[in-house]
Amino acid sequence: MKSFKQQDEQFVAHTYKRFPVELVSGKGSLCYDVTGKEYIDMGSGIAVNSLGFANDGWVAAVSAQLGTLQHTSNLYYTEPCATLAAELCRRTGLSKVFFGNSGAEANECAIKVARKYAAEKKGAEYYHIITLENSFHGRTVTTLAATGQAHYHEQFLPLTPGFLHAPANDAEALIALSEANKVAAIMMEPVQGEGGVHALEADFVTRVAAYAKEKDILLIFDEVQTGNGRTGKLYGYMHYGVAPDIVTTAKGLGGGLPLGACLLSEKVEGVLSYGDHGSTFGGNPVCAAGAVYVLSQLDEALLDQVREKSAYIVKNLTGAKGVRSVSGMGLMLGIETEKPAADVVSACMAQGVLCLTAKHKVRLLPALNIPWAELERAVAIIKSVIAEGVTE
Ligand SMILES: *Cc1c(COP(=O)(O)O)cnc(C)c1O
Repeated sequence: MKSFKQQDEQFVAHTYKRFPVELVSGKGSLCYDVTGKEYIDMGSGIAVNSLGFANDGWVAAVSAQLGTLQHTSNLYYTEPCATLAAELCRRTGLSKVFFGNSGAEANECAIKVARKYAAEKKGAEYYHIITLENSFHGRTVTTLAATGQAHYHEQFLPLTPGFLHAPANDAEALIALSEANKVAAIMMEPVQGEGGVHALEADFVTRVAAYAKEKDILLIFDEVQTGNGRTGKLYGYMHYGVAPDIVTTAKGLGGGLPLGACLLSEKVEGVLSYGDHGSTFGGNPVCAAGAVYVLSQLDEALLDQVREKSAYIVKNLTGAKGVRSVSGMGLMLGIETEKPAADVVSACMAQGVLCLTAKHKVRLLPALNIPWAELERAVAIIKSVIAEGVTE
């Protein structure tokens, strides 16, 4: 019998460089490999397992739905999908939701809405969408075009035309780019995740939002990673006091099941009509039931905890030996270290802590409800690994 690691290496396409860990089970923020070794999970499946592994309430909600009605297609009404849409609108003030299965699909929907809106209001030549340098918006041919990092593009040209990239935190440059082109929308992540965990500056966001509003250019927030409590508010844009026209989200929404959402404001809620867009699995009742449960847990008390735990990590690591800087918001943090980030991640793994990287940084995205005891243990290990062998 081959181990599942060997089978995976033989039969799964080599698009992922996996860590040498074979995980078999998890509970809360702890998980276990085939040898029984325990790990503290500081990555939550890349910001997906919002409530950790096998959260009791989430498992109950998902299991009940699984045994009732697992899928119907979007030809029929189902209760979890309707409840989830209503709850997302109630908590954001946005008006309507389109459900897909992933972040890239949520962004594809936003891009289609923006193009149709601008074509109808201003003319078909208003198809450009400005995104930021160093951004990440997904892996489909169109969301790759949106992604402002050339190294993701190179092997797959030509991509969907019409995407322009402006430097982050430079409103003048973005506005100049916009004025020189016929623009439908501006799209940005409140905290650039894959780009290295950089929060946008408040001045930049408010200036761009005011400009977009004045010019009737749609403002899209890609909250695939920052959404659903990750930054210490329900959505990242809420830190900036701006009102986006479209918000996309995915990763943490389903609590571990594939679900993407494109939230539309009143201004654009009617842009797509029957037949303009669709998804076979989108809004699947099991995924939606999981998400309804996740949202029910994301109350002010939990968000307070996210902010407190964030402050704890920042306080412990800022200025620590071997740490150059700590960036990000809430439980989405990037640590720039003297040692290569990949070496820190490997050494942490050996000591039973699972971390991620983003560009040249160590990235932490623990479950939003990680218990204090595990957080403290993980931070102590991360801190000692980062310091080890570093000379003053
Ligand atoms: C992960 C991510 C995506 C892509 O999501 P998928 O579910 O992998 O398609 C898009 N935008 C941002 C900001 C992300 O972090």
